[in-house]
Amino acid sequence: MKSKYDVIIVGGGPAGIFAALELCQTSNMSILLLEKGKDIDSRNCPFIGEGISCPPCSPCDLVSGLGGAGAFSDGKLTLSSEVGGRLKDYIGLERTEELVHYVDSIYLKFGGSNKVYGNGEEVEELARRASLADLRLIPMTVRHLGTERSRAVLHGIRDFLSSRVDIKLGTAARTILTENGVVKGIETKDGERIECRYLIIAPGREGADWLVREASRLKLTLKINPIDVGVRVEVAEAVLRELTSALYECKLEYYSKAFDDRVRTFCMCPAGEVTMESTGGSDPVTTVNGHSYADRKTKNTNFALLVSTTFTEPFHDPIAYGRYLAHLANLLSGGVIVQRFGDLMEGRRSTKERIERGIVQPTLKSATPGDLSFVLPYRYLKNIIEMLGAMDRLAPGVASRHTLLYGIEVKFYSSRLALTESLESEIGNMFAGGDGAGVSRGLIQASASGVVAAREILKRLSRNIPSS
Ligand SMILES: Cc1cc2nc3c(=O)[nH]c(=O)nc-3n(C[C@H](O)[C@H](O)[C@H](O)COP(=O)(O)OP(=O)(O)OC[C@H]3O[C@@H](n4cnc5c(N)ncnc54)[C@H](O)[C@@H]3O)c2cc1C
Repeated sequence: MKSKYDVIIVGGGPAGIFAALELCQTSNMSILLLEKGKDIDSRNCPFIGEGISCPPCSPCDLVSGLGGAGAFSDGKLTLSSEVGGRLKDYIGLERTEELVHYVDSIYLKFGGSNKVYGNGEEVEELARRASLADLRLIPMTVRHLGTERSRAVLHGIRDFLSSRVDIKLGTAARTILTENGVVKGIETKDGERIECRYLIIAPGREGADWLVREASRLKLTLKINPIDVGVRVEVAEAVLRELTSALYECKLEYYSKAFDDRVRTFCMCPAGEVTMESTGGSDPVTTVNGHSYADRKTKNTNFALLVSTTFTEPFHDPIAYGRYLAHLANLLSGGVIVQRFGDLMEGRRSTKERIERGIVQPTLKSATPGDLSFVLPYRYLKNIIEMLGAMDRLAPGVASRHTLLYGIEVKFYSSRLALTESLESEIGNMFAGGDGAGVSRGLIQASASGVVAAREILKRLSRNIPSS
């Protein structure tokens, strides 16, 4: 590792690696990719499938390391400007759509599959039936890579980059160095100072807290996103088969009667497993997520039900709020709570015996049977119960008393850095992208945001513009 680079990229997730790909394909500048986690193959969660509670680890191998948060996922590439982020708010619809196709073509080049879901008459019919149930089926096509292919694509990208970019693993960026409003470099956690002309910050949700702290120290404007809090729902695979075989990932949206809040399905995992993850660095919290594996099918399908809300003034720290709720679930259960929907509706906790009697058996064995009403405020529970009822009209069985709810699922992409249309921050030559900056919420738009920053840097270098 040198002490000076043209570009430093913080974070080796899709935003960071697509920025690196774009930069190194068209120029021979010096680039450093800093990633606090491990290399792809060294990432390993020792607790998956062990039936024990998440300890939690810091950093968590599931969400940290080369490849980023989705490296263990089954790689659903959402080919839409509407879903998976708000990139279009920065760069406009047309450019977003062009970039969605561009990054998709790169995933294909590195071995992405040709299988695309979400087209055809069958989908139109499902959309019609959804509307009769008070739901909106959000149209989108999904390229499904599958876990193994996802890893193979990441290996291909890593091998391509490793001869062109300095990749420094196990190294967290601690301090952003600036001078007169222009970026100067990075200081690592070990106190090493590395200079750069351009900086791209892409720390993902895992690094969102760090980014907020740095942004506050540097007095950068932070905008508040609605916070997404909810549960992971697990049903028998047959209940959602009609939807998942046509759409793979089914995005449904509902506005609750009680609060007019937006409730939506997120990250549907057909025949998948519910998992735990920990986020938050030195003060981690354990939350729920889900995966599907190509070689390990289960009898269940899981998906998140997330409620988006904005808060009343003067409160402006939605990340702290989400962490507080997650801590509460951790406090009551030692990790994650699981409850049968029927028990929730009866006003009683689930017990080990009640869960064992159920038709749907939990794929996350280490979840503690309990009562989510001790954790989730009325507003969230009410919204979730309403949405399950609406989904049950589209796919009977979703609101069965055997349906399992795991809590809690929180998406920590709540604070957004003020960024220009080229994703430059209020610090000159410092760009930010991906989930951590609040720009994206999925692989495709995270990747696209890295390309946006990289293209602007290339443009400046070719014109030799020092900063905006
Ligand atoms: C289990 C799971 C399944 C998912 N499945 C899908 C899916 O199928 N389809 C989809 O579209 N999306 C999926 N996602 C979401 C997707 O993974 C993210 O939207 C995407 O990875 C965001 O990319 P990113 O580059 O912004 O951040 P990340 O992928 O989170 O990468 C950020 C990286 O930065 C590193 N980092 C953080 N702070 C620092 C620091 N200070 N210094 C150095 N490094 C740092 C982190 O270790 C991390 O590796 C999934 C996410 C999870 C957790």
